Amino acid sequence: MSILVVNKIDEIRNVIKNYRNQGKSVSLVPTMGCLHEGHKSLIKKAHELADITVVSVFVNPIQFCPGEDYDKYPRTLDADKIAAESAGADIIFAPSVNEMYPNMQKFSDLTIVTPPFELTDIMCGKSRVGHFDGVETVVTKLFNIVQPDYACFGKKDIQQLFLIKKMVADLNIPVQIVDCPLVREDSGLALSSRNKYLSEADRIAAVSISKSLSAIKSACESGIKDIKKLLDLCIANLDKKIDLEYLEFVDKNTFKKIDVLNGPIICAIAARIGAVRLIDNIELEV
Ligand code: AMP
Repeated sequence: MSILVVNKIDEIRNVIKNYRNQGKSVSLVPTMGCLHEGHKSLIKKAHELADITVVSVFVNPIQFCPGEDYDKYPRTLDADKIAAESAGADIIFAPSVNEMYPNMQKFSDLTIVTPPFELTDIMCGKSRVGHFDGVETVVTKLFNIVQPDYACFGKKDIQQLFLIKKMVADLNIPVQIVDCPLVREDSGLALSSRNKYLSEADRIAAVSISKSLSAIKSACESGIKDIKKLLDLCIANLDKKIDLEYLEFVDKNTFKKIDVLNGPIICAIAARIGAVRLIDNIELEV
């Protein structure tokens, strides 16, 4: 059976309803497309968990801030069909912007799902103001449209994963969120659709992002707990071409910013090479 591509909300609802009537379970992998091995690992997990796997491919305009790369974000649906099918997906749901946000003139026309300020006034939420409102809103819509039993999200977007789990718990959305490991190139570079924008030289420089996180992990393991020292170590390890946007340490369980390293911690980084913004993170046990 070749993969089914559905563009309309009514149609995906009918397709899912038919599977439900046959007693089949459903998993969902929300993506913005330009699928790579990181996305494929989520799709493989989703395929293991449920009878029917849906991959959504939607470049969500309301999660991009003004001046970001919405217009030039890579759109590669033909290649995505092949990648999704090879990883075990049954259906791609690829709606248009008008299908998801009919007649939207501006963001403030919409009903929005907003995460708590304290959890977004850090990391990516702080540098991309409003980004997680856009993410939570589109993910809620996708959950309501597909009504999956399981939804798989990658640890690459660690703040997003935390906020989605909290949203599902706070709003009693009947879906099980499944964490999937961050997939890297052999070089250590975290796979990202935005890696496509990097030149060969930029890509070599980008490897220093994961190297700087590994250096922090080794330093913590050897007893260094001073955040200022760890920040200096990070900067010393970053290629000169790279601009650090943030390096932050948060409690893994609460996602509150911490001043003293203690317990399970997420160390997260965002950095830019020219116009390309990349993120990565590592877990520390201190
Ligand atoms: P995106 O298409 O970038 O919105 O990502 C869709 C999903 O794929 C999110 O749950 C991401 O966390 C996940 N993802 C993206 N890159 C990776 C990666 N390198 N490893 C694991 N998951 C990833």
